[in-house]
Amino acid sequence: RAKAGGGQQSAFFDAAMGQVVSERFAVEQDLRRGLAAQELRLYLQPQVNRQGHMVSAEALVRWQHPDKGLVPPGTFIGVAEESDLITEVGDWVLAQVCAHLGQLHTQGRRLPIAVNVSPRQFHKADFVPGVLHALEQAGAQPEDLVLEITEGVVIEQVDTVVRKMSQLTQRGVRFSIDDFGTGYSSLAYLKRLPIHELKIDKSFVQDAPHDPSDAALVEAILSVAGHLRLKVVAEGVETQEQADFLNQRANVIHQGYLFGRPAPAAEVLATWSGTRSDGASAA
Ligand code: C2E
Ligand code: MG
Ligand code: MG
Ligand code: MG
Repeated sequence: RAKAGGGQQSAFFDAAMGQVVSERFAVEQDLRRGLAAQELRLYLQPQVNRQGHMVSAEALVRWQHPDKGLVPPGTFIGVAEESDLITEVGDWVLAQVCAHLGQLHTQGRRLPIAVNVSPRQFHKADFVPGVLHALEQAGAQPEDLVLEITEGVVIEQVDTVVRKMSQLTQRGVRFSIDDFGTGYSSLAYLKRLPIHELKIDKSFVQDAPHDPSDAALVEAILSVAGHLRLKVVAEGVETQEQADFLNQRANVIHQGYLFGRPAPAAEVLATWSGTRSDGASAA
């Protein structure tokens, strides 16, 4: 708290803080209302292989607000994460994704879908049974669900984190580390976690073709992933140059505007020619 400036400055500071707090509270209340009014929307963004075929997708939530229009998650996930609301948002997204996976499964089609899991959501006591219940309820195959966690999830209680992850991976669910390289954790934990994929953060991907430091970071991540036999998804691929940079170095799955923006889930699935459950491409 800024005391040195005397009464006036401190009063200004308090007022500014108060405004931030009340704005967060307003968003929280509005989100509570929006959830009840079923204003959340499930968007999917394609993840494509070297040939440009969609082989999986990431679920990205949107909020169809009556006054504000389509609200991106950056403006409300943080608020939800500070309260119990993240559980409701997370449960909703998981249920939606499992419903799509279950439906695809009955059609004999297969498209693994990745879901973002926030730290608070992961650390809840009933996270593991909740995921398994959502899968069962929808008749979805655990192998089709990818859970994206960030390094932030892993900072504390590593033993508990590993135990929870293992309970899910034993059932077939897979884990991915999102925004890899932007967190504060050490490389050592990679060895301990039952993960199958790393997602290279878009800040590295986008600058790699021109910035030698970003290029070196991307190459280091590809090298680590190769040695640990982890799949790599590159996030934020916008240009052919960025795609080429990656393709020249490794077998990478691409996710970015160059191949497809996030779009309503039903739309993405309807326009997808499909991969059969046996993995063969129908495209
Ligand atoms: P993220 O998980 O790292 O998702 C990738 C973000 O990059 C998405 O932003 C996506 O639209 C954006 N993106 C993809 N390709 C490109 C590209 O080529 N260029 C640029 N500039 N951006 C690209 P979005 O949808 O706004 O989501 C932002 C963040 O919100 C996500 O980052 C994730 O952390 C969080 N989020 C989204 N949906 C959920 C959810 O259901 N649950 C939780 N807990 N968090 C979510
Ligand atoms: Mg993600
Ligand atoms: Mg990411
Ligand atoms: Mg990100």
